[in-house]
Amino acid sequence: MSHAMNYILALDQGTTSSRAIVFDHDANIKSSAQKEFHQFYPCTGWVEQDGLEIFSSQLDVAREALSRAGLAAGDIAAIGVTNQRETTLVWEKSSGLPVYNAIVWQDRRTAEICEQLRKDGLEPYFRERTGLLLDPYFSGTKLAWILDNVPMARIRAEQGELLFGTVDSWLLWNLTGGRRHITDASNASRTLLFNIHTCRWDNDLLNLLKIPAVILPEIVSSSELYGETAPGIFSEAILIAGMAGDQQAALFGQGCTRPGLVKNTYGTGCFMLKQTGETPTVSNNRLLTTVAWKIGDKVKYALEGSVFVAGAAIQWLRDGLGIIESAGDVEALAASVPDSGGLFVVPAFTGLGAPHWDPYARGIITGISRGTTAAHIARATLESIALQTVDLVRAMEEDTGIKLPELRVDGGATANNLLMQIQADLLGVPVVRSRITETTALGAAFLAGLAVGYWQDSEETSIARQIDRTFTPEMTDEKVTLLRQGWDKAVRCAKL
Ligand code: ADP
Repeated sequence: MSHAMNYILALDQGTTSSRAIVFDHDANIKSSAQKEFHQFYPCTGWVEQDGLEIFSSQLDVAREALSRAGLAAGDIAAIGVTNQRETTLVWEKSSGLPVYNAIVWQDRRTAEICEQLRKDGLEPYFRERTGLLLDPYFSGTKLAWILDNVPMARIRAEQGELLFGTVDSWLLWNLTGGRRHITDASNASRTLLFNIHTCRWDNDLLNLLKIPAVILPEIVSSSELYGETAPGIFSEAILIAGMAGDQQAALFGQGCTRPGLVKNTYGTGCFMLKQTGETPTVSNNRLLTTVAWKIGDKVKYALEGSVFVAGAAIQWLRDGLGIIESAGDVEALAASVPDSGGLFVVPAFTGLGAPHWDPYARGIITGISRGTTAAHIARATLESIALQTVDLVRAMEEDTGIKLPELRVDGGATANNLLMQIQADLLGVPVVRSRITETTALGAAFLAGLAVGYWQDSEETSIARQIDRTFTPEMTDEKVTLLRQGWDKAVRCAKL
C-alpha cells in the first residue's frame, strides 16, 4: 500500500455535532469538517435527536472533508467510526426509517424503570454482569421504553421487522446500505444487555428488560473489515474497518494499549478511562467496568469514571461570575497570584460523581478572607478540576492496585498550561499532552488503519501519535498535602 497516496477517514459522530477528519500515515490531520445538528427537548429531562439527521450530517461532513483535502474515495484506505455512546435508535428493517427519535444518553425518562429495578434488588445482578449501574444513561431501558411506548413496536420487533442499534450500528447499517447490522463490543458494553464476561448479549438481562433478541445487532470486534460503503455514498466504495465508542476510541488514540495506562479528557466534564487488561476489574468505588476494545478475539477492559463539572466551571467564571471574558483568560488571571490563598472551590453544581456519588451535594467556596480576589477564585477553580481528577485517579488505583505511571490528557481545557502543571503537581506524576487533540477520531482511525494494514502494529501507531508537551511535578510534598487535605475538607462541606 502506498502510504503517500492513502489516508484514513475518521467519522466522529458526537452528541452535538458530526465531524469527519482525514488523517495521513503520520497521524497528521489532512482536513476536517464539522456540522451541528438539532437537539429536541420534548419534556423535562428528555433529550432526542433525529436519526436521519445524525446520518445525513455525518455523510455531509465526510464528503466535505474529502473535498476540502482534494481527495477522492479511492485515496481512502479505510473508514473508522466513533460515536456518542448509549444513544438509542430503533428503525424499520424494510424502509430504514426510525420508528422514534434517537433517545440521547442524557435522557432521564427511564429513571423510574431504573428505580423499580433497583427496588427489586436487581442492581448487584446487573452490575455483576454488565459492569454498569442501573441508570437511565445506558441504552437498555431506553430501548425498553421505545418498545413499550411506540404503537405496535413490541409486536413488530418480535416479528423481526425492527432493528435496534446505538449510533455505531445505525451509521454502519446506513453506510453499508442495510447490509450489516452490527455493533462493536465497546458500544455493546454500554447497553445494560451485554455480559462483559462472555462478551455476548445476556439472555437473562434481555428477559428482565423484555427485549426480544431478534432486534439486536451482531457483536463484532472494534477493528476488522466490516464491509464497504454502498453505491452512491461516495464516488467509489470505501472499506469500513474500525468502530468504537468515543471514550474508548480516545483511550486507543492516546496509545493506552498497556494495562495501567490512563487517559483523561478535559471538556465540559472530565472522562477518565484506565485500561485494565484482559479481565474485567470490579470497582469498589462505583466506577464503571467497560469493554475498552476487542481486537481479534482479545478483549481489553477499562475502568471509567467521570467528573460532571470541569471546563463548565470555567464557563461559570465567565458567564456566572463575569470575572473573565473568555475561557482562555482564566490562565493569566489564575497565574497572577502565586497560590489560591487557602481558597477552595468545589463546583458540585449538579452533585458529585465518582468516587463521591452524591447527587445532593452542591457547590461551595471555602476559605474566603478579606484578601480574596477574583484571581484566587480563578486559581482555586482550576485546582478544583485537577483535584476532582486526583480523586478519580485515587479510586482507580484503589480498585486496580496499579499506581498511575503518567496521565495522558486531551480535550479543550488541556490548552491551559497552568492547569496541566497543577495537575502534574497534585498527582505527582507526569501529565502528557498529545500533539493531536482529536484523540477520539485518531483512535477510530488507528482501529480502522490497523485492520487494513495501513499501520502494521501499535508500535507504528505510537510513533505517529507523538507528544506535544510533558508537564512534570514541581510542587513540594508539603504544599500538595495541604491542598489535598483542604480539598477533602471542602468536599465534606459540599456534601452537608
Ligand atoms: P466538550 O467536548 O465537552 O464540548 P471541549 O473539549 O470542546 O469540550 O472543551 C471545552 C471546555 O473547555 C469548556 O467547558 C471550556 O470552558 C473549557 N476551556 C476551554 N479553554 C480553556 C482554558 N484555556 N482553560 C480552562 N478551560 C478551558
